[in-house]
Amino acid sequence: MPQTAIGFIGLGNMGRPIAGNLVKSGQDTIVYDAAGTAVRAPQGAQIAHSTTALAGMVDVIHLCVPDGRASEAIARDIRSATDRQTRLVVDHSTIGTEAAQRVHGLLAGAGIEYVDAPVSGGVSGAVNATLAIMYSGSEDTFDQLQPTFEAMAGNVFRVGGEPGQGQAMKVLNNFLSGTAMAATAEAVAFGVKQGLEMGMILDVVNASSGRNTATADKFPNRVMTGSYDAGFSSAQFVKDLRLYRDAAGAIGASCPISPAVSAIWRSLDADEPNADITRIYTFVHPEDGD
Ligand code: NAD
Repeated sequence: MPQTAIGFIGLGNMGRPIAGNLVKSGQDTIVYDAAGTAVRAPQGAQIAHSTTALAGMVDVIHLCVPDGRASEAIARDIRSATDRQTRLVVDHSTIGTEAAQRVHGLLAGAGIEYVDAPVSGGVSGAVNATLAIMYSGSEDTFDQLQPTFEAMAGNVFRVGGEPGQGQAMKVLNNFLSGTAMAATAEAVAFGVKQGLEMGMILDVVNASSGRNTATADKFPNRVMTGSYDAGFSSAQFVKDLRLYRDAAGAIGASCPISPAVSAIWRSLDADEPNADITRIYTFVHPEDGD
């Protein structure tokens, strides 16, 4: 097995295309997914049969798994591998600040470096290698990871050196994104009820001070078109907003707006589990639903 091979665990909506881009960039990539690797592996990747097996094959393992529980379980498996070669774990999952600190502690105890490097940009960003990466860890490791990051992302930021700072950046971004989406749904529904036309509302807002990612992208491209396919679910916003509020609570940061934003995403998710986030519009304005 070449010494330079990279390990990748978690081949879901995000991980599969990210790992596929590593393969396309010419990096030897060995992958594993607990739900079945062979059916999920991108073309050209090699397959590992378990996390512990992978930890015996590669120096560096990247993770893209659902939550902190999964990252922690994987960290324990890597730590327990008897013939372990892995010395660095790069976590692209969104797990929150406290989980990142816990996983860091678990691995540090075994002499394994852990860096958090969550991503933003959705499935299309993963497919097109245009993701933003929010890395937190040492500068040396950041430099060493550049070729890998360049194969999967369009913008790579070193946001800090402490475990969890990448996660802090990621959850504050998703708080803003969830707020913009929910507030835009409310504002557009208000305008439509006032007799304004949705396309006109968006044109005016996008030339004015209310412009945001929902008015500039998600509403014109995925609500007005009726496709409702942003590829990010209400359950994911519920999770990310919970992580934001947990992190804010842990440091006593004031967060007066997030309870209302969390509540609306929880209501949508209860009404329509795992709804595409663009469904927030038909949720607040059912007259426009199909
Ligand atoms: P997903 O559920 O589609 O994929 C996760 C994969 O991890 C699954 O294939 C699952 O089988 C595997 N997995 C879970 N536990 C495992 C374990 N212990 N060992 C090995 N494999 C395991 O999730 P996703 O949408 O690809 O998201 C992955 C991460 O990226 C999440 O933390 C998510 O919050 C974050 N994220 C997602 C998006 C998005 O648009 N989907 C955008 C940015 C960040």
